[in-house]
Amino acid sequence: MQRFVNVHCHLLNFRFIPDAFFKTRAPIRERLLRCKLTRWIARAVTFLWPGKKYDKIHEVLALMKRDIRDLVKPFVDEMDQASIVLATPLMMDLELASFNVKPETPYRYQVMLISEIAVDYPGKIMPFIMFDPRRRSVSELIKTALEEMGFLGVKMYPPLGHHPDPGSFFNDAEVNHALNATYEYCEKESIPITAHCSRGGAYSGDLMHSREVVHKFSHPSSWEGVLEKYPGLRLNFAHFGGNEDFLNFDRSESWSNKILELMRKYDGVYADISYHEPALWEKTAGDYFATLEKLMNDDPIRDRIPFGTDWLMTRHTWTEKAYVEAFLMLPPTMLQQIAFENPLNFLFSDRKLPMRIKRFFESKNIKKTDLPHLIRVTLTV
Ligand SMILES: [Zn+2]
Repeated sequence: MQRFVNVHCHLLNFRFIPDAFFKTRAPIRERLLRCKLTRWIARAVTFLWPGKKYDKIHEVLALMKRDIRDLVKPFVDEMDQASIVLATPLMMDLELASFNVKPETPYRYQVMLISEIAVDYPGKIMPFIMFDPRRRSVSELIKTALEEMGFLGVKMYPPLGHHPDPGSFFNDAEVNHALNATYEYCEKESIPITAHCSRGGAYSGDLMHSREVVHKFSHPSSWEGVLEKYPGLRLNFAHFGGNEDFLNFDRSESWSNKILELMRKYDGVYADISYHEPALWEKTAGDYFATLEKLMNDDPIRDRIPFGTDWLMTRHTWTEKAYVEAFLMLPPTMLQQIAFENPLNFLFSDRKLPMRIKRFFESKNIKKTDLPHLIRVTLTV
């Protein structure tokens, strides 16, 4: 069986997401909200998957009710069944998303819990810390997480309320200062960054009503100034601009077209294919894989498309195994490139386990022999 590395997934439960975040425009919500008992379910369902009918929704709700440690076990079981040998869960910092309601589990405590999970599954679960430049002392938090708490990379989500460019007039001076500090550090230390990049997803309360602003901040062209200033960044545009844009990459106005332009210009630019539902729907799979194969025949694009699923967001319909199986129809060398080589190239500069992660493992008495085959054999440890 082909081994997979999943660069895009999430370990989230209801206590990690502020209740008020489950805002939505889906009409079904109003009806369900009137019934007090089902209120939180309705909010969750409509926030995560607005306006859609899914078959495993009760399973995902049951998962999200669990403690985060108990949520990891079924996730790891799913990884094993799907031959996913390494996953990098991306954290979500929703405390500053302007709803005035904090998550039940404060973000810094969430970071501690996820760090413990990185100890329980060394080299198998290697999380990304979320960087919201509006947070106080955020540069210190990011640095500590990366150097002392086992976090492999950085997650960013600009549509929650900031422009990614440190030269943007929209941001406060402190926000731009934090952006510069983190980009500089990540470029110097070869730390991978994954940035949300699609028209869909979670939005800031402030920006919810302005699609224009939300799209502007998510748009890959918002990163042009960042890459000009920090050309050595390792930057992954999550979702490759989103389903529809991915399929229409040859249209000049599509987001994926812009991403491809940036990939050709900068060696460190990647785009993952997480939450690409057209790959899993019978009607669209043909088109989807024809598009993917076309891109995989293009140099240097073929080296920049890493695999990701977006679990738990995809769990309403697909287990990790079901998701992975859709991709098995790719020619073997192409599949190996997407599932294995590209994720490792994005995550590990020169295929080396970073010194900071080695030090973290040592501090937790994790020996080289405790690490999975993948890390010991594929990487320089
Ligand atoms: Zn995601």
